[in-house]
Amino acid sequence: MEKKLTILCASAHPDDIELQCAGTLIRYVKEGHKVYMAVAATGNVGSKIHTGPEIEAIRAKEAQRGADIIGAELIMLDFKDGEVWLDNPTWKTYVDLIRRTNPDVILTHERDDYVHDHSNVGENVYRAAIWASTANIPDTKYEPINHIPTIFYFEPLGMSRVAPADHYVDITQEYDQKIEAFKQHESQHGDFLEKQFGIKDWFEYVEAMNKLRGFQCGCKYAEAFRVVQTWPNHKPYRLLPPVQFASR
Ligand SMILES: [Zn+2]
Repeated sequence: MEKKLTILCASAHPDDIELQCAGTLIRYVKEGHKVYMAVAATGNVGSKIHTGPEIEAIRAKEAQRGADIIGAELIMLDFKDGEVWLDNPTWKTYVDLIRRTNPDVILTHERDDYVHDHSNVGENVYRAAIWASTANIPDTKYEPINHIPTIFYFEPLGMSRVAPADHYVDITQEYDQKIEAFKQHESQHGDFLEKQFGIKDWFEYVEAMNKLRGFQCGCKYAEAFRVVQTWPNHKPYRLLPPVQFASR
């Protein structure tokens, strides 16, 4: 029987995943794999017109709608924006997240992304993945898993990578569904992000990014990843869609 995988996509904020790697998650779901989306922070600073509690409630609904369109199970970790730190309790939160979801593959932020919520999620995931399978870590809630997941970094904002992408996923057939998922985060698509980053049309950014990555690998639209280079992340088979195990 064909092996089915479990994928954990760990991001900092609601909408990061839809922006950067939703096409790949949709492809995983289409292939019959289980996908979790774990969002660290509530998005409480993501508005210049709503209060923190108001925008949190709005963004929780948007995140759920996005995950529903992708076909993923959403987990909100309920940190506040700007407060995802590299500390012991946060590390244990990620050890427990990995134990709870028991993933074969983890997709997460580059450890050198533009804002510390992003880079700290990537760093915590990197530091937790190797320990989730070990016993006797004090103050953790879940039982150790029996393997070490493989980690890939998805595209950072602005495609400003610390090193070239080394894995590509053709998302041509998933592109419209990805855009639909991204559209659910409507609280972010007007004023707020334009005032923050000077970019009026984020759909144009998504199209430019996925077209360029598609051009690089010979298809219309693609998403690009970088496998974590440290042992034991390299595998002699393909863990990104289309997932392919060796026949021997
Ligand atoms: Zn973010």
